[in-house]
Amino acid sequence: MRVALLAPVWFPVPPTGYGGIEWVVAVLADGLVAAGHDVTLFASGDSRTAARLVSVYERAPSERIGTSLTELRHALTCFVRAGEFDVVNDHSGLPAAALAGTVATPVVHTVHGPLDGEAGVVYGQVAGVAPRLGLISLSLNQRRPRPDLPWLANCPNAIDLEHYPFDPGRGDYLLFLGRLSFEKGAHRAIEAARRVGLPLKLAGKMREPLEREYFEAHVRPNLGRGIEYLGEVTHAEKVALLQGARATIFPISWEEPFGLVMVESMACGTPVVATRRGAVPEVIEHGRSGLIVDDEAGLAGAILEVRRIDPRECRRAAEERFAPARMVRDYVAAYELACSAGAV
Ligand code: UDP
Repeated sequence: MRVALLAPVWFPVPPTGYGGIEWVVAVLADGLVAAGHDVTLFASGDSRTAARLVSVYERAPSERIGTSLTELRHALTCFVRAGEFDVVNDHSGLPAAALAGTVATPVVHTVHGPLDGEAGVVYGQVAGVAPRLGLISLSLNQRRPRPDLPWLANCPNAIDLEHYPFDPGRGDYLLFLGRLSFEKGAHRAIEAARRVGLPLKLAGKMREPLEREYFEAHVRPNLGRGIEYLGEVTHAEKVALLQGARATIFPISWEEPFGLVMVESMACGTPVVATRRGAVPEVIEHGRSGLIVDDEAGLAGAILEVRRIDPRECRRAAEERFAPARMVRDYVAAYELACSAGAV
C-alpha cells in the first residue's frame, strides 16, 4: 500500500526529548516499511526513518510551536501530493484533518488529544466539511464525549520495546515522568511520596508558560527532602530512571487519551500506580502491570502494596499488548477499511 504519514512538524521523528506522538509515528513508519508498504513520511528534516522522508523544514521549528502558517505549510506539502497515495494518515492535528475534504484520496486521521471541550466541537465541524474522513482513537474512553464522530478503528499506541530494555531489579525511589501540568499531577505524586516516606524523582517538560507557572506554584516549593526535579530527560536518561524505579506514579486528573509513559514503564519492568481516569484502565491491568486507584487519596496505599507486582509480568503485558507489530496490523486494517469505503 502507498501510505503518506503526516507527522506533527514541531519536533523531529523520533523526538530527542519530550514527544509522545512523534514516537508513535516513528514506530508506525518503520513498522509499515518492515511490513512491505511504500511509506512517505512528511516530517521535519532532522527526523530519522526507514520511510521516504519529505520535509519543508530542515530542522523542527519547535520555537514556533502552534504557528498556523508553519503548520499549514507542512500539512499542504502532503495534501498537494495526495493523489500519489492510496491513503493519507494524518497525525499532525485538526487543520490537516479539515483538508481531508479537499482531496479524493481517503484520509485517516489519528486523534491524539482528548475530545472533551472545544476539540470535540471542532472535530464535529471538521467531519461536516470532510464527510469521508475516518478517525482513529487511541482508547475507547477517548471517544466517550463524541461517540457520533466517524470512528474507523481503535488503534492503541505501541512502543519500540527494544528501546525500553527490561530490568528485573527494582530500586527504592518513585518516578514521575511527564509534562509539568496540573492534569498530569506531579504535585499529587509529591504528596503521595511524602506520605510513604520514599524519595521521588520528577522528570518532565517545563517549557510553556503554563508549565512554568504550574512548576513555580506546585512543585518548586515542595522540592528537597528526597523530592528532586531533574528537568526534561533524554531517552537514555529516561530508560535508566524507569529501570531503577520502584514504581512510576501516574496520578492524572484528566481524560488522558492514552499515556505512553505507562507502557514505557511496564516495558522496563516497573509497575505503574495510576488514578482511574482516561485510558488508564485500558492500558494498565490492575494487579498485573500496576495498581489503579479511584482517586489521589488511594495513591500512598497502592505504593506500599506495589512490591507484590512481578516485574516480568509488567514486561510481558507490554509485549503482548503494546508491540509495534500489533499497532501496524491495526493501522493497516484501518487503511484497508478506509480504501474500501472510498471504492463504494
Ligand atoms: N518524555 C520524555 N522526556 C521527558 C518527559 C516526557 O522523553 O522529560 C516522553 C515520555 O517518555 C513519553 C512522552 O514524552 O514518551 C509523553 O507522552 P504521553 O503519552 O505519556 O503524554 P502526553 O504529554 O503526550 O500527554
